[in-house]
Amino acid sequence: LVPMRVQKFLARAGVASRRGSENLMTAGRVRVNGQVVTELGSKVDPRVDTVTVDGREVRLADGSVYLMLNKPAGYVTTMRDPGGRPCVAELVPSDRYPGLFPVGRLDRDTTGLLLFTTDGEAAQRLLHPSYEKDKHYVALVEGVIGREERRALERGITLDDGPCAPAKVEFIERGDPRATTLAWTGGDGASLVGLTIHEGRKHQVKRMLSAVGHEVIALHRDTFGPLALSGVGPGQWRMLTDAEREALR
Ligand code: URA
Repeated sequence: LVPMRVQKFLARAGVASRRGSENLMTAGRVRVNGQVVTELGSKVDPRVDTVTVDGREVRLADGSVYLMLNKPAGYVTTMRDPGGRPCVAELVPSDRYPGLFPVGRLDRDTTGLLLFTTDGEAAQRLLHPSYEKDKHYVALVEGVIGREERRALERGITLDDGPCAPAKVEFIERGDPRATTLAWTGGDGASLVGLTIHEGRKHQVKRMLSAVGHEVIALHRDTFGPLALSGVGPGQWRMLTDAEREALR
């Protein structure tokens, strides 16, 4: 992306034809960084300038790919496994989109929402500890989680690599649609718990639940920040919608 004339920028963004965009400019409806721009020779730098038409921000599609995978169990989160184990690269269109890679990691036996992008900068931002967006997990655990354990998780328990931020915890009843995701039909001395955390330490959810005395039998992630797993069956992927991409910014 390089600096370009405002009307070219608007046309590329699909606002109107170049001519139509010029008309919008001369009508005073276009602003660059808050200033009305009527001069047809004016340029914008799409990397730094903010362009609005009638007060609404206009952006160029940047050509990068974002998709979500509903990861099945049994796949390692890597684009290449030297050991030859099944890996998530086999489930996404990695040949069609070179540079596609997963944003973060789910354990081999964990299922659910895994985001992929070709945009390395965005991935770094989304993985950085300062991007403290919630991730929601549903865990099937051994035994029945009681109020004490719940309170401990909500206060923030300490693992061997340091304290965890307080988690949000919900009990999930049998019969809840989410129970079927983990193939739980109730009973068997197990229970389902929903956990929201924003950190992403290795095996964090399993370790947190284990620390309060409940081993995880199965784990599923159904949200990642503003994204919710929807419209994709296990092992399937789909492109993010424009609204979802926008929400990730
Ligand atoms: N926490 C875990 O323990 N495993 C995952 O895959 C994700 C979060």
